[in-house]
Amino acid sequence: MSRTVFAGGQVFDGTGAEPGSADVVIEGGRIVEVGPGLDGDEVVDCTGKSLLPGLFDCHVHLMDTTLSALDWESSPFSLPFYEAIRNMELTLAAGITTVRDASGADLGVQVAQQRGLIRGPRMQISITMISQTGGHGDRWQASGCPAAYQWAHPGRPEGVADGPDEVRAKVREMIRAGADVIKIATTGGFFSARDDPRTAHYRDAEIGVIVEEATAAGRYVMAHAQGTAGIKTAIRGGVRSIEHGLFLDEESIEMMADRGTWLVPTMTASLGLSEAIKSGVPIPAETAAKAHICAGAAETSVRAAVAAGVKIAMGTDAPVYPHGKNLRELELLVQAGMKPAQALQAASLSAATLMGMEGELGTLEPGKRADLVIADGDALDVYDLGNRIRAVYQDGVLVSAPETEQPDGSRRR
Ligand SMILES: [Zn+2]
Repeated sequence: MSRTVFAGGQVFDGTGAEPGSADVVIEGGRIVEVGPGLDGDEVVDCTGKSLLPGLFDCHVHLMDTTLSALDWESSPFSLPFYEAIRNMELTLAAGITTVRDASGADLGVQVAQQRGLIRGPRMQISITMISQTGGHGDRWQASGCPAAYQWAHPGRPEGVADGPDEVRAKVREMIRAGADVIKIATTGGFFSARDDPRTAHYRDAEIGVIVEEATAAGRYVMAHAQGTAGIKTAIRGGVRSIEHGLFLDEESIEMMADRGTWLVPTMTASLGLSEAIKSGVPIPAETAAKAHICAGAAETSVRAAVAAGVKIAMGTDAPVYPHGKNLRELELLVQAGMKPAQALQAASLSAATLMGMEGELGTLEPGKRADLVIADGDALDVYDLGNRIRAVYQDGVLVSAPETEQPDGSRRR
């Protein structure tokens, strides 16, 4: 088997340690050695560059491309599958080799990537977010017509369920459809018609059953949770990660720290939504009103969570902020008080741990799968890191080599 050595770069290994100069050798899709002065049959010169583990985004929607309600309604049924191909390429080009799809992608999308029909991040999928009637996953509109947003089809069952019996059956249905992880909504959200991100959805008994059923099947539960009360019911019920967590208070932060509940802040989502509204994207009026009410909440909450040592994994909610711009989240995490090395760890080892993949991925260590990212300059300079990604390897295979845009507008490898 041939050995490839990535030589002369600054290695950020994902463990949170400060980067150091080292070589990395891969063989047969695995990392086999990390250290100084290594040799190989093939050499990839990394002088002046940083070497990172393949990065993670723990909250994306690969099947969604637009925030425009008009586009959802007029999109041909199968178009989102083809758009997903481009979304996956953009995600890879950002250095993201593994994602958690937080509802949308079905089993066919995952299998197509696994078989190499299309290139993209490896993924854990949740199929459809489970929510109560009138909740964040309910497609009902005031017109009486269901929205095309979160459309259901044979690979993607409807997600509305109420009461312990219905939610139990719904979890089983999602697992049957291919869910690796169960996504629920324990508060309202932005892109749903008649709910409020600040109010709690599902009672303790329902969340208890969901977690019980998922656990029995070896799955974790991730909860879309924005308001304080719904964040607390989710933590009490034993969900693994709070997604968004807009209105964390002192008690919820303490509960998360005590129980080891993860936070996936998705700060770019707040930014992306406000930018879309400003630039005139047709966003439903209720959504814009909710965005206004919640403006600024994300940063306040994340700052407090970081200070309290809550476990944080990076997620973006792309395409609320566009696919491919995922690493913008690192900048926002640093603005909210994380050190650059911590932010990168949130996108590598921490994310892998949240997803139960830390034995295989998340660090540059011998034995791990050879997911690597080469970036120009210093990886700890997270500002603009997304524009400095030069090569992305997945299981030892070069899967993306983003070009550099020159000041004159031309592009160069
Ligand atoms: Zn989401």
